[in-house]
Amino acid sequence: ACKGKHVHHVVYYPQLNKHSLLRLSLMSELRSAINDDQLELFYQPKLDLIQQKIVSVECLVRWHHPEHGFIQPDDFIPLAEQSGHIRALTEWAIDTALKQKKLWLKQDIDVQMAVNISAVDLIDLKLPAYVAQLMTHYALQPNALKLEVTESAVMAEPEQALRALCMLNQMGIKLSIDDFGTGFSSMAQLKKMPLDELKIDKSFVLDLNHDEDDEVIVKSTIELAHNLSLSVVAEGVEDLATLNKLSAFGCDTAQGYFIAKPMTVQSFNDWWDPIELI
Ligand code: C2E
Ligand code: CA
Ligand code: CA
Ligand code: CA
Repeated sequence: ACKGKHVHHVVYYPQLNKHSLLRLSLMSELRSAINDDQLELFYQPKLDLIQQKIVSVECLVRWHHPEHGFIQPDDFIPLAEQSGHIRALTEWAIDTALKQKKLWLKQDIDVQMAVNISAVDLIDLKLPAYVAQLMTHYALQPNALKLEVTESAVMAEPEQALRALCMLNQMGIKLSIDDFGTGFSSMAQLKKMPLDELKIDKSFVLDLNHDEDDEVIVKSTIELAHNLSLSVVAEGVEDLATLNKLSAFGCDTAQGYFIAKPMTVQSFNDWWDPIELI
């Protein structure tokens, strides 16, 4: 619906500003971005607070656009979701993450790969089938992979999502509920989900050391998660004081700039090598 000619025309309408035109062109370019190697995964370590070591990495996508440069996921994941390209993107992300897992295993780096998935990925059973095929292809243990799914993604289509999550769980794939606390999921729904991990959203963690309300929320969320037998990750840990506070509250895992930023494979390897994080 957006051929070159019309693009020139709509420039005169104030509501269709440069920004929306950019959105439209990005949306149509996503497919080729996936095929042409313009996407890259960055890896951010998750620190196990009991074992004091890196047990997992979250895989976060970046887009190197030939004209617009580096585009952040918050600027194109919603477009991918609206245009249906998200399925191809998710498949690419899981495949890329597992390929990297095999490479790291050869270097004696044994970390679980945590990949983000969207609501759209949970509306049918294509994802569980695809994951099963990849696990066989790469001959990996199922717990090599964790899928992070947001609270709102599960609540969009709770019954469909539950079916997909149950299949993944039966295969031994680990499941994490992401951005916890930002949606309004019912406890009844949450209890039914075959989850392994709950991630406290960074909006409650960033200011944890100075905000008493956040302290109450984080403390009680950790308690809730543990009562449901879920392991807890706090994201957005930016300083030592916050890390210590989380440890004191019994949080299992921490992720954030204080530990490390999301890194390319190369910088991850450099970061990993000199330091034996113990
Ligand atoms: P998310 O899953 O909640 O990921 C955490 C975001 O917080 C990441 O942003 C990460 O870089 C950032 N972060 C990590 N530590 C800190 C910290 O200490 N302080 C602050 N201020 N931020 C921190 P990023 O990489 O820009 O990703 C944004 C969102 O895009 C992700 O939020 C996720 O929802 C989505 N996303 C990223 N990659 C993928 C993907 O491959 N597939 C899908 N479906 N979504 C993705
Ligand atoms: Ca995530
Ligand atoms: Ca989050
Ligand atoms: Ca998020």
